[in-house]
Amino acid sequence: MSESWNNRTKLVHGGTRRSQYNEVSEAIFLTQGFVYDSAEQAEARFIETAPDEFIYARYGNPTVAMFEERIALLEGAEDAFATASGMAAVSGALTSLLKAGDHVVSAKALFGSCLYILENILTRYGVEVTFVDGTDLEQWRAAMRPDTKAVFFESMSNPTLEVIDITAVSAIAHEVGATVVVDNVFSTPVFSKAIEQGADVVVYSATKHIDGQGRVLGGVVLGTMDFIRGTLEPYMKHTGGSLSPFNAWMLLKGLETIDLRVKAQADTALQIATALQGHDALERTIYPGLADHAQNALVQSQLGGRGGTVLSLDLKGGKEAAFRFLNALTIPVISNNLGDAKSIATHPATTTHQRLSDELKAELGITAGLVRFSVGLEDSDDLIADLKQALAAAQG
Ligand SMILES: *Cc1c(COP(=O)(O)O)cnc(C)c1O
Repeated sequence: MSESWNNRTKLVHGGTRRSQYNEVSEAIFLTQGFVYDSAEQAEARFIETAPDEFIYARYGNPTVAMFEERIALLEGAEDAFATASGMAAVSGALTSLLKAGDHVVSAKALFGSCLYILENILTRYGVEVTFVDGTDLEQWRAAMRPDTKAVFFESMSNPTLEVIDITAVSAIAHEVGATVVVDNVFSTPVFSKAIEQGADVVVYSATKHIDGQGRVLGGVVLGTMDFIRGTLEPYMKHTGGSLSPFNAWMLLKGLETIDLRVKAQADTALQIATALQGHDALERTIYPGLADHAQNALVQSQLGGRGGTVLSLDLKGGKEAAFRFLNALTIPVISNNLGDAKSIATHPATTTHQRLSDELKAELGITAGLVRFSVGLEDSDDLIADLKQALAAAQG
């Protein structure tokens, strides 16, 4: 029944479990463990745990299970496992799947910590990684080998907002039997249906749009029941990256409003990008929803024409201009989260992407003048006026 609901209904009612008190709002089960009626019941539960039975919060918890079921319904995935953060989701998905001697192909435009896992951690355990330009299908094709076990990419890259073709890359990966793991944060589970488009495993940092109000860390891995319960769960429950029940409750509440929030944020993002395009102070306005974006055709087919909630502004005048711009903003805050109700401006070259070599920064288009702008829920006219006065200040 709930599978046939539309998103907004799934997001409000999906996965709800009620206790004997029949509470309206989902309960927070802040408990580390569960009591058994008898020694026999305890023994039986350790042999086989049914979906509504629990043993220990590292393995599962009713509030966490509600979150997993609701997000799986939204994504159209068979199953989900909630994690302590987005990075616990990325590292869990990859590490549970890979072993020494395996080969991975990954896009090179990655969130800093994702790059660290692929470049520094997996390689230390004998996994070989080939990095490609994610927008170039020829490079994906050329990098595949018979021993390629997994493919990894962010479907919309951070901070330059390149869009990667999930269907085409998945088809290339599946020819050699590789598992496709997609970090879908920037695309959001509302605009993108990565599993339908060919991905095997989808990961989210729930810290971003799913919470949407900058309160808690969380993450989730989605995929087939076989992958989630057979491959990922044994790894996660024994290594400890499980989500706290309190955070799961915050994220359940976040899911209730995510559809409304991200659509409003994407509408405002498009209005801002349109208003600022061609501004004198700007080298470039990057927004996937603009018709001049290099992958705009893919935005139409893969994201229903929605460009997401983040835009990037490349200012003329390098770091000095970017800093004058950031310091002149009065509504957005200078920080490094995204998907928040509050608009957030970030200077990637000196913060989130500081660790990258100058060559890689140049290759990825992370210039000294680049500012990433995560659009919040404020009034669009107020934001546009504030951005324009800050751009004037940046021109000095
Ligand atoms: C934020 C982010 C992560 C990491 O999520 P955390 O919740 O901070 O651990 C991973 N991938 C992308 C694309 C992100 O934006």
